[in-house]
Amino acid sequence: MNSNIKDWIRPEIQSLSAYHVPNPGDMIKLDAMENPFGWPADMIAEWQSMLTDTALNRYPDPGSHDLRAQIRRAFDIPDNMEILLGNGSDEIIQIIAMSVAEKGRVILAPEPGFVMYEMIARFVGMDYVGVPLHANDFSLDMPAMREAIQAHNPAVIFIAYPNNPTGNLFDADQVCEIIELAPGLVVVDEAYTAFADDSFISKLGQYSNLLVMRTVSKMGLAGLRLGYLAGPADWLNEFDKIRLPYNINVLTQQTAAFALKHKSVLDQQTEILKQERTGLFEHLSDLSGLKVFPSQANFLLVRVENLDANIVFQKLKEAGILIKNLANAPGALNNCLRITVGTPEENQLFLKAFKEILI
Ligand code: PMP
Repeated sequence: MNSNIKDWIRPEIQSLSAYHVPNPGDMIKLDAMENPFGWPADMIAEWQSMLTDTALNRYPDPGSHDLRAQIRRAFDIPDNMEILLGNGSDEIIQIIAMSVAEKGRVILAPEPGFVMYEMIARFVGMDYVGVPLHANDFSLDMPAMREAIQAHNPAVIFIAYPNNPTGNLFDADQVCEIIELAPGLVVVDEAYTAFADDSFISKLGQYSNLLVMRTVSKMGLAGLRLGYLAGPADWLNEFDKIRLPYNINVLTQQTAAFALKHKSVLDQQTEILKQERTGLFEHLSDLSGLKVFPSQANFLLVRVENLDANIVFQKLKEAGILIKNLANAPGALNNCLRITVGTPEENQLFLKAFKEILI
């Protein structure tokens, strides 16, 4: 390796691998928890005509005031809570981590969980502690959580609610106990909230260290890169000092505000996906040699019991269907696959190919 790189790039960065996103080509894309639907033609036409007035020569509103007001209304964010926007919720994780980063400090999360918590902890030079979930149902292992909080004094605990890649909601009382025990912040990450039956948004303010983070990615706007953090102003004002001034570009600000005005279209799509999730769950549960985990998100986790999940993944690819391969993941995820819920047609094609591979 170029010795300059060895000398100057931090060793923990040198030892990381870049986040890998497979090229889907023209495969059916059931790997990334995207909403598979487009917009009705009249909505597209209205959006395009609105964009003609966009001043691309000007910087965007650095505080995204209109969009934040619209997010507050659309998602019932309590009036006494502040909102901070990120270029995807990934950026919000990064902003929070940068604000607390100091050598030896810890970011903690249950595992298996969302990979960016650990990656971003490493980016900012913090330590990361993953606390294993119960292997049978991916519920929180409370004795292990209590012990880890006590032992590592975490600056931030991330709790994905529902969890990715397992799809389940943790027990809300247990999450509340974690918030009470935490010496620092707890970020409840509600990326999949549109598909779930419960939320912590109404608990904001009950705990001074609770923040709720969400994204518009899974509800149909993944291409915009927009996440939001809701919580007490005193925390968010600190994070806002680190946020780059123009992190939400003008096209995202305008398009997200437009889409939220037409939120009923996205909500209908979410309803279809929830029904499809139920159908997929029932069909998959009928297949032998497969363990299907209940999900409150727009994906299902399955464990292949008698075959190598790597081979199943590969054969699905050959059939033109891309899902997420977790076959080589350590621990409780071993031999698992994650399938994003697609359109009714895509789900049928997936089920047909999957059944043929399994028998
Ligand atoms: N949190 C969780 C739990 C996720 O699964 C994801 C996306 N996979 C994110 C956050 C990031 O979402 P985005 O950056 O698209 O807003």
